[in-house]
Amino acid sequence: MVWECGIGECGACFDEVEAAIAHQATEHERRECKVCGTVVPDGYLAIYHAFSEHSRAEYVRAYGADSNAVRRRESIVEDVTAVVDQDELARLLDR
Ligand SMILES: [Zn+2]
Ligand SMILES: [Zn+2]
Repeated sequence: MVWECGIGECGACFDEVEAAIAHQATEHERRECKVCGTVVPDGYLAIYHAFSEHSRAEYVRAYGADSNAVRRRESIVEDVTAVVDQDELARLLDR
């Protein structure tokens, strides 16, 4: 499985999902969550934050997302959360 960074035109590829998330958190600008203003790493962690901390309705209102965009992001969170090694990720983000 190859994990591709989906931020903008980046397209960087990684063999390990943890490496892809660490890349997003370190190589890309952090973003402010449009719902609560918390600054979070871009990419998976931003999406994870939005869908774990906020309701779908809040997300749609703040980002003007349509239901396809919401479903796509929800499935990313599901897919990644199912396989990510949280300890390994924490180790990479800690460096
Ligand atoms: Zn990237
Ligand atoms: Zn938030």
